[in-house]
Amino acid sequence: MPAYSYAPQPFVRPPELDGGATGAPVAIVGAGPIGLAMAIDLALHGIRSVVLDDNNVVSVGSRAICWAKRTLEIFDRLGVGERMLAKGVTWKVGRLFHGGEEVYSFDLLPEDGHKYPAFINLQQYYVEEYLLERAREFPDLIDIRFLSKVVGHSASPEGVTLTVETPEGSYALAADWLLACDGAKSATRERMGLDFTGQTFEEQFLIADIEMEDSPFGDHGIAERWFWFDPTFHPGKSALLHAQPDNIYRIDLQLDLGADAKVEASEEKVIPRIRAIVGDKPFRLDWLSVYKFRCIKLERFVHGRVVFVGDSAHVVSPFGARGGNGGIQDVDNLGWKLAAVLKGEAEEALIESYHEERSHGSAENILNSSRSTNFMTPKTPIEALFRRETLRMAHDQPFARRLINSGRLSLPCSLEGFALQTPGEGKLRPGQPMLDAPVGNGWLLPLLQGEFTLVGFGEIDLPDVGVRRIGIGQSGKGYETRDDHGGYALQRYGTGLAYLVRPDGHAAAVFHGEVPEAALKEALARAMGKSCEREIA
Ligand SMILES: Cc1cc2nc3c(=O)[nH]c(=O)nc-3n(C[C@H](O)[C@H](O)[C@H](O)COP(=O)(O)OP(=O)(O)OC[C@H]3O[C@@H](n4cnc5c(N)ncnc54)[C@H](O)[C@@H]3O)c2cc1C
Repeated sequence: MPAYSYAPQPFVRPPELDGGATGAPVAIVGAGPIGLAMAIDLALHGIRSVVLDDNNVVSVGSRAICWAKRTLEIFDRLGVGERMLAKGVTWKVGRLFHGGEEVYSFDLLPEDGHKYPAFINLQQYYVEEYLLERAREFPDLIDIRFLSKVVGHSASPEGVTLTVETPEGSYALAADWLLACDGAKSATRERMGLDFTGQTFEEQFLIADIEMEDSPFGDHGIAERWFWFDPTFHPGKSALLHAQPDNIYRIDLQLDLGADAKVEASEEKVIPRIRAIVGDKPFRLDWLSVYKFRCIKLERFVHGRVVFVGDSAHVVSPFGARGGNGGIQDVDNLGWKLAAVLKGEAEEALIESYHEERSHGSAENILNSSRSTNFMTPKTPIEALFRRETLRMAHDQPFARRLINSGRLSLPCSLEGFALQTPGEGKLRPGQPMLDAPVGNGWLLPLLQGEFTLVGFGEIDLPDVGVRRIGIGQSGKGYETRDDHGGYALQRYGTGLAYLVRPDGHAAAVFHGEVPEAALKEALARAMGKSCEREIA
C-alpha cells in the first residue's frame, strides 16, 4: 500500500560468529530514529558504536511526521538537517475549527532570522533513511547490524554483555555501555523488570495517510495544521489534517470508545470517512493505523551502564509531536556526556545528569500531552462542560481561545536550575537552549553546537581557557568573529554579554561586561559535572 519503496538492508555476518570478539565502547539496541541519531552523535565525537536492530527496513508506516525546529537544529549538527528540510513540508500556522467554523489560528514562529522553520512534516521512514545514510558515512565508527535481535544482556559496573540472535546463529557482544533505543516495547526494559508509570488512555484514533493530487486543504494552498472539534464531517469527535511530502496527507480521526480497531481500519469503514472530508476528489490509501496511547515514563533513565533513550524511556500521545522530538533531545543531551566519559574527560557521574535533565524534559512532555488529551477527550461531566463552554465562547471571546488545547506543540526543554548550569540572568538564562540568528554569511547555532563554546555579543572580551570562542558584532579580536547580520543576535542575546554554551546548544552560564577567567573555568567545570574546587586547584 505505501508509495515509499522500502530497501531491505542486508545481513552482514559479524566477526563474533567466527570467533573474532571485537566488542565496542557502546552497543546501541535499536536502529529507529533515536538509535541512529545516537550513533551519529557519538561518531561525531569520535566514539565507536555497534547498532543492533531486529528488523531490516526503516519505519513501517509514516508514524512520526511532525519534526520541530529544535530537532531540525540538532539534525543540522548531525549533518542531516538541510536534507530533511529540503524534502519536508514546511509549516508554522495552525488553525482550529469548531463545527464548521474557524475559531482561531496561531503562528508558531512569527519572527524572522532563524535557519530552520517552526516545523516540517516528513514521514518517519524518510527521517530514518536519511539518518541511516548519514550513519553509513562513518564506516570506522558505526557498525550497523540488521536482523540482529538482542535477546539478553548481563551488566556489571564495568560493562555489559549482550546476547544477539541472527539468521546465522547467536553470539555475545561485549560493550562498555548499552544504550537501549529499542522503542516503546523495549525488551531491555522488560528484561530488567522496570515499569513505566503514568496514564493509559482508552480513546482510540484512526490514522489514514492518503495520497491525492488535489490538496484537501482546498484553495488554501499552503500547508498548515488543521484541527477540528466536533466537525460537521465527523460529529462529536475530533479530527486533524496535516500535509506530508509526495502529495500525502494525514487524517487523524477520534473514534468511539471501545470501537473495534480491526473493523475501524477496514477500507469499507475508512473510505466513507475520508469521502466525508475530501468529497469526490480521487485519493489512494497509503497507510492505515488505529492507535491508543499512553503518557508514561521510566522512573530512572540510567541504570549503571544501561541507559534508556527515546521511546524506551518515555512515551507520549502523538498530539503535540513530542515523542520523536523528545527522543532527539535525549540524544543531544547524552551524546556529548557519554563521549566525555569514554574519553576520560569527565567522570561517570556526568551520565546521571542525563537522567535528571531528560527525565525533567519527558515529564514536561507528558504533562502537556496529558493535558491536551484530557481536553480533547473529557473524562468527567465537569471536564465536558468546561470544554463545551470554552469552545462555545472561543468563537468571539479571545480569552477562551487560550484555554483550548488541541496539542501544545513540541518546544525545546529548558534546563534551568539543574546542577550543570551556573545560575545567572541574561536575555537568555542558563539552561535555556540558544536561539538562532543570522551572523556573517551564515547562522549562529551551527557555530555554537558540538563542543563547549564561549560566545560574546557586542562589547565584551573573551578570555582563552581552551574552549572555542566566537565574537558576534565584534572585530579585531584574537578569535573568530562574525557580523550581527540584521541586528537579530544582539537583540536576542543583549549587548556586552557572553554565554558559555554546552555542546548540546544549551546555555551553561552567562557573563555581563567581562568574563573573569576563574569564573569561566568554574562554570566549565560545573557543566562537566566536576567538583569545582578540584578543577580550579
Ligand atoms: C501514530 C504515531 C504518530 C506519531 N507522530 C509523531 C510526530 O509527529 N512527531 C514525533 O516527534 N513523534 C511522533 N510519534 C512518536 C515517534 O514515532 C516515536 O517517538 C519514535 O519512533 C521513537 O523512536 P525510537 O527510536 O525511540 O523507537 P522506535 O522507532 O520504536 O525504534 C526502535 C527500534 O528498535 C528495534 N528493536 C526493538 N527491539 C529490539 C531488539 N530486541 N533487538 C534489536 N532491535 C530491537 C526496532 O526494530 C526498531 O527499529 C508518533 C508515533 C505514532 C505511533
